Amino acid sequence: MFTPAHKQQREQLLGQRACVIWLTGLSGAGKTTLANALGNYLHQQGKLCTVLDGDVLRDGLNKGLGFSETDRTENIRRAAETARILLHTGVITICSFISPTHEIRALAKSIIGENDFVEVYVNSSLASCEQRDVKGLYAKARRGEIPSFTGITAPFEAPERPDVEIRTDQYTVEESVAQLIQFISPRIVLND
Ligand code: ADP
Repeated sequence: MFTPAHKQQREQLLGQRACVIWLTGLSGAGKTTLANALGNYLHQQGKLCTVLDGDVLRDGLNKGLGFSETDRTENIRRAAETARILLHTGVITICSFISPTHEIRALAKSIIGENDFVEVYVNSSLASCEQRDVKGLYAKARRGEIPSFTGITAPFEAPERPDVEIRTDQYTVEESVAQLIQFISPRIVLND
C-alpha cells in the first residue's frame, strides 16, 4: 500500500510534484485534445505523465459499462482509483472524462484527495460542441439513437468552482493549450 511518504519519495526520484489534472466538460468540448497536448508538452519538459481518457478506458478497463447513472459512477470510480495509484507513484495524471455531475466529480475528488486534485472545466457551449460534432454523436442523439446523451437527454452540471476554466469556444486550440500549460506548470514544481 502506498502512503504519502511513498509519493514523496517517488516525486524526489522523478523531480516533479505529482497531481491529478481532471478535465471535465461536454462531449466535443476539447478534453482529449487538451489532455494529449498537455501530456506531450510535459513529456518534452522531461516530466513523467500519462493520460487516462474516458473513451479509451471504455474500450478496456471499463468495457461493458454503459451510461446509466450507476454505470457512469462506476466508470468514474475505476478511473479515479487508477489515477490514485499513478499519483502515488509520482506520475502526473491527466484525466479526460465528461464526469457530468457535481456528485460524480466529488466522488473522483474524494478518491484522489483534494490536495492533489486539479479540476479543469473545459467549457464550450452546447451549441459549439454540437456544431463541431467531431464524433457525429450529437446528430445521433438528436435522432434519438443514443439514450442518456450528456447535454441532450442527460444533464451536464457545470462545475461551480473549478480550479481553472478553459473556454475552448472562444480561443484556438493553441491558445487553449497555452492557457492550460500556464496554469499547470507551477503546480508540478517540486518544492523541497
Ligand atoms: P472531448 O474529448 O471533450 O470529447 P475532443 O478533444 O475529442 O473533445 O474534440 C474537440 C474538438 O474541438 C477537436 O476537433 C478540436 O480540434 C476542436 N477544437 C476547436 N477549438 C478548440 C479549443 N480551443 N480547444 C480544444 N479543442 C478545440
